[in-house]
Amino acid sequence: MDQLEPTDKIIEQFGRQILVPGINEEGQIILANRKVCIIGLGALGTIASQYLVRSGIGEISLIDPDTIEESNLHRQINYDLNDIGELKSEVSKKKLQEINNTTNIFSYSETFQSYLQKNLKYKFDIIFDCTDSHQNKILSSKFSKKQQVPFISISINSSEGIYFSQNYKKNSSLPCFECLFPQTDQDHRCLNSAMIGPVAGMVTSLACTKIIFALASNSLSLENEISLIDLLTSDINKLQLSKINCPH
Ligand SMILES: [Zn+2]
Repeated sequence: MDQLEPTDKIIEQFGRQILVPGINEEGQIILANRKVCIIGLGALGTIASQYLVRSGIGEISLIDPDTIEESNLHRQINYDLNDIGELKSEVSKKKLQEINNTTNIFSYSETFQSYLQKNLKYKFDIIFDCTDSHQNKILSSKFSKKQQVPFISISINSSEGIYFSQNYKKNSSLPCFECLFPQTDQDHRCLNSAMIGPVAGMVTSLACTKIIFALASNSLSLENEISLIDLLTSDINKLQLSKINCPH
């Protein structure tokens, strides 16, 4: 990775973040050289895109094939009434670029599967799956594992969220998403049908905090974790990851 000299602009723009122990000036400069892929620009992905673009990450790719509907607005924070019918990836890119023009933002109005057909070799520093599709999480975790890239997935349902991370950079033999969460007919379509906006905010904030710290470290240190978060009871439960032989 190329090392940039610290600039006054970076210190001025991200001064409050640079003060955080574990980030510092050095971490902020490392962040400016990182590449992140956000898959899905719904409730989780729009909140993630806001926090990650504002943090000063060098490059962010946004992948989502959908257009904006009125029913999205109660939880998908990149959009407003004027955006209905427009592509989520394009609108997100335009609005995020106005927030931070030092991050290179790329938008792809297609599924992750179709994106991969053209960009199979492109390497990110972290792949962050914010979709509500079990099928997509299986695909994106297998791709991350193959590329030996840290993988994070979040999902929500009603008042609960699930945070899942596997650091395939440190250990590419860790199980993929499918081995830990085998697909059933029930979750074929949608993982999170019922939801209120703030649950998405909480789960995404947890993930983005860990992502920013991991990206700011030279070693991309990210714990392997599955946590269940219940916002009504304020309980966060870390599950013990089982040792599974992943044949994928
Ligand atoms: Zn597997």
